[in-house]
Amino acid sequence: MEVSPPSAQEESLGFFGQVNRMFGLAAKHTDHKLGILYQIRACDNIIRFEFPIKRDDGTIEVIRGYRAEHSHHMSPTKGGIRYAPNVNVDEVMALSALMSYKCAIVDVPFGGAKGGVCIDARNYSEAELERITRRYAFELARKDFIGAGTDVPAPDYGTGEREMAWIVDTFTQIGDDDLNALACVTGKPVGQGGVRGRTEATGRGVFYGIRKACSYKDDMEALGLAKGLADKDIVIQGLGNVGYHAARILEEEGGANIVGIAEIEGAIYDESGLHVEDVVAHREDTGSILDYPGAEDIETSAQALELPCDILIPAALEGVITEDNAPRIQASIIAEAANGPITSQAADVLQERDVLVIPDVYLNAGGVTVSYFEWLRNLSHVRHGRMSRRFEERNAARILQAVDELTAEDFDEELLERLIEKVGFGAGERDLVQSGLEDTMTHAYDEIRAIRKETNNVTTRTAAFINAIDKIAKSYERMGIFP
Ligand code: NAD
Repeated sequence: MEVSPPSAQEESLGFFGQVNRMFGLAAKHTDHKLGILYQIRACDNIIRFEFPIKRDDGTIEVIRGYRAEHSHHMSPTKGGIRYAPNVNVDEVMALSALMSYKCAIVDVPFGGAKGGVCIDARNYSEAELERITRRYAFELARKDFIGAGTDVPAPDYGTGEREMAWIVDTFTQIGDDDLNALACVTGKPVGQGGVRGRTEATGRGVFYGIRKACSYKDDMEALGLAKGLADKDIVIQGLGNVGYHAARILEEEGGANIVGIAEIEGAIYDESGLHVEDVVAHREDTGSILDYPGAEDIETSAQALELPCDILIPAALEGVITEDNAPRIQASIIAEAANGPITSQAADVLQERDVLVIPDVYLNAGGVTVSYFEWLRNLSHVRHGRMSRRFEERNAARILQAVDELTAEDFDEELLERLIEKVGFGAGERDLVQSGLEDTMTHAYDEIRAIRKETNNVTTRTAAFINAIDKIAKSYERMGIFP
């Protein structure tokens, strides 16, 4: 089914236009009704508002905020809140659309949303940020753009669990006895309704996604690479929440070689490998990743994207890989940990060059997947694993004792105790979250890969979009159109 090609107006819309262009490329491989496709593509609700806050010096500043709810084929809608000076309506619409597709790809039953506040968080004190965050949350609540069953924000660029704690507290203060108030936002600190494993979830999901992509011998051979993650050379841009955890886990659990790291102040490169935790400690001590012992300093973050490596992971900002630098990128795989780091024109160049792009719409879905687990925890009012952990522990011990009784020779008492200690544990919350995340990311990659193979080898991004469109279209077909 051909959906109207991107119009000049759509292209000029920028980021949202680019998302819609990707949508169009995928939609033509489906046979859904045109009206349904238009509905999937449209952004349902957008609010833009301005509010005053008092700065610490007594002056008053007017702050602009946004929230876009892209699709209500599932409720609530879900998506992060970013604090950045360049946040605009086009960006929140685009990011909310990506959230709809992302949730569908990983079978998380939410529609997509995204919010933002136009500030550079570094220019405000903690007290000012608290006032901005609380007032932003208050405005969302007044406009019915937040709530466990309505719209559930989460952290994004420039925000973290501190901001989510302020939001949930504000919402709780103004809500009337809402038993599910804690589920109004995810990414909260563990003591305040958060789930263990949420902080690292996006980075860990990036790890599972890359590991899965590298596990197919034929796919890797087509790129001239060996199967597996061990010893692959990786360059990562952005050492924030997503980039730091992805890099750390890729190094520690995947055995990958992190050869380059880029941050705001510049980049460092060492072909023999950098130690992520040491780089972070060095940055804490000196205020910069530069001058890291043994590594070469690179002047700008953008230059680092062109360093020699097997896998390039942009994990900071959108639009960093463009038509201009795409021909110079040396990586065989680009893993989009950030949202929208590759422009659609650059994507065409990379496709021609046979670079495997693992798309954002799949790869950074670990955050929303674990947000879903947090939301479920809040609605059930019980920690995951609380009811079953001891039971599982005892069951494992019973099985070992039964094996002991059934074998001719008794286990040595000490050996039995050691075995029970080793295998006789019940899953705690973190274990369950990680296991659910690993299963989700692995299964979703296989679905996308199967579509890619079935559909004349379209790109992985197009296959991911086809997967999302199919699932959302089925939702609309099942529920019908109101009234
Ligand atoms: P963050 O604020 O924790 O980290 C961003 C990092 O990028 C910071 O360390 C910042 O200094 C660095 N940075 C900024 N400009 C840079 C530049 N030019 N070069 C190199 N580094 C630069 O944000 P985050 O939560 O890690 O989000 C990063 C990206 O991942 C965003 O695109 C976001 O939308 C996406 N994402 C985040 C989550 C999540 O759970 N946090 C989930 C999905 C997608």
